[in-house]
Amino acid sequence: AVEFLGVNKWFGSAHVLRDVSLTVAKSEKVVICGPSGSGKSTLIRCVNGLEPYQGGTVRVDGHDLTPGRIPAVRRTVGMVFQSFNLFSHLTVLANCTLAPIHGHGIGRRAAEARARDELARLAIADLADRYPGQLSGGQQQRVAIARALCLDPAVMLFDEPTSALDPEMVQEVLDTMADLAARGMTMLCVTHEMGFARRVADRVVFMDAGQIVEVAPPEAFFERPEHPRTREFLGRIL
Ligand code: ATP
Ligand code: MG
Repeated sequence: AVEFLGVNKWFGSAHVLRDVSLTVAKSEKVVICGPSGSGKSTLIRCVNGLEPYQGGTVRVDGHDLTPGRIPAVRRTVGMVFQSFNLFSHLTVLANCTLAPIHGHGIGRRAAEARARDELARLAIADLADRYPGQLSGGQQQRVAIARALCLDPAVMLFDEPTSALDPEMVQEVLDTMADLAARGMTMLCVTHEMGFARRVADRVVFMDAGQIVEVAPPEAFFERPEHPRTREFLGRIL
């Protein structure tokens, strides 16, 4: 569903993605980890057209992310960030229907029905009429996930979705992500929650200095990392 083929990106003279190639199959769950500044956020931002890149190709469901096509493709890519990015002046329901109604021409009734469905599936139907400021961080992040799902994405991208949360709220968001994984969603997740990686990922990717250094199923990745830099990284965070 998502293909990176020899992707290269520079910020000025800094070469931040170096020949990155990775294919994420439909329904596959891939967790990306690596040190700060290794290019994890930049890599996933290339999938929804937030970042231009200078070499190689990124494809979503076979569509090249060349500039003219980005609006069409962006619709099918859902993204959840560390900061929840909800609109504070809109209710939960209105947050979930804004893009479907105003960006994609879906009728209000259909958009609201879909939003209520997604909220119910994430067990937050009772929050529909609240404002973001009336929610816990974990609830806000689950709303952000529901909102992304309302656009029927082909793939969901997560960039450290739990790192801004109080510890007691981390698990509810990880559980929501695990449920989504169990429903067959294609997922690309940047996270340092290695318990989640073990439980949910089909493959774990380790990035360092703009390169993919190692890719392996979780068992092999954690028990038998091959590259010294992977071992050193795991030694620091586990
Ligand atoms: P972290 O774990 O801290 O989130 P990361 O792996 O997500 O790090 P990126 O944010 O992708 O790393 O950054 C990769 C490199 O690109 C870093 O060297 C960073 O300083 C640089 N970079 C990121 N965004 C920009 C920008 N807008 N302009 C210039 N350099 C940038
Ligand atoms: Mg980052």
